Amino acid sequence: MIHVTVWNENLHEQEEGHIIHKHYPNGIHNYIAGFLSKQPDLTTTTATLQMPEHGLTTEVLDKTDVLIWWAHYGHSRVSDEVAERVHQAVLQGMGLIVLHSGHLCKPMKLCLGTSCTLNWRDDDRERLWCCNPGHPIAKDIPAHIELEQEEMYGEFFDIPKPDDVVFLGWYKGGEVFRSGVTFSRGRGKIFYFQPGHEEYPTYHNAYIQKIITNAVYWAAPTARLHEEIKCGHPEPLE
Ligand code: ZN
Repeated sequence: MIHVTVWNENLHEQEEGHIIHKHYPNGIHNYIAGFLSKQPDLTTTTATLQMPEHGLTTEVLDKTDVLIWWAHYGHSRVSDEVAERVHQAVLQGMGLIVLHSGHLCKPMKLCLGTSCTLNWRDDDRERLWCCNPGHPIAKDIPAHIELEQEEMYGEFFDIPKPDDVVFLGWYKGGEVFRSGVTFSRGRGKIFYFQPGHEEYPTYHNAYIQKIITNAVYWAAPTARLHEEIKCGHPEPLE
């Protein structure tokens, strides 16, 4: 079994229900957990900003194989302690999938070490091109996917050079974006995936669900440490 924790800042849900409830009446986190839990070998739980320790205690992270992170305007409300705890869990092997406006979240910036800023414009249409069809995250995904409504995220995206660029976004405004990128940090795998603006039904799209599901299997650890990573001093060879 792969244990997935879907984290959401849960602020649109609490403060702007008129925006989010049209497509996600129970919140984005519950919607994502819902389609993932249809896989017989995935178990899902959810956690939110408002819970004690944002729902990401050491016990929860120890049991989490893959953490999915959706956030928008509450990044600064995440405690530095919890953000660093997530960072350390990634170094120990936990997979991390950061969605859409989560690009500025503290764990992503701690893992990548850059500003993770980008250009954006509201209300556009996106054609999401698969530029790495052999990658496990692109399994059973066509050459391109049309998203009739999506927020434009454009270059320059201030990230380190990715291990792989799996998807490229193109918008009717002419902008392009590295929409699906992978990184490895320590023992952990990271996937950032751009689609998922809260006003649009992006996560209802079967291909978007397939990409996120593929990413969970890809990011699940093969070897996870459950202790602080320390310097080793191996015995000299005889
Ligand atoms: Zn957005």
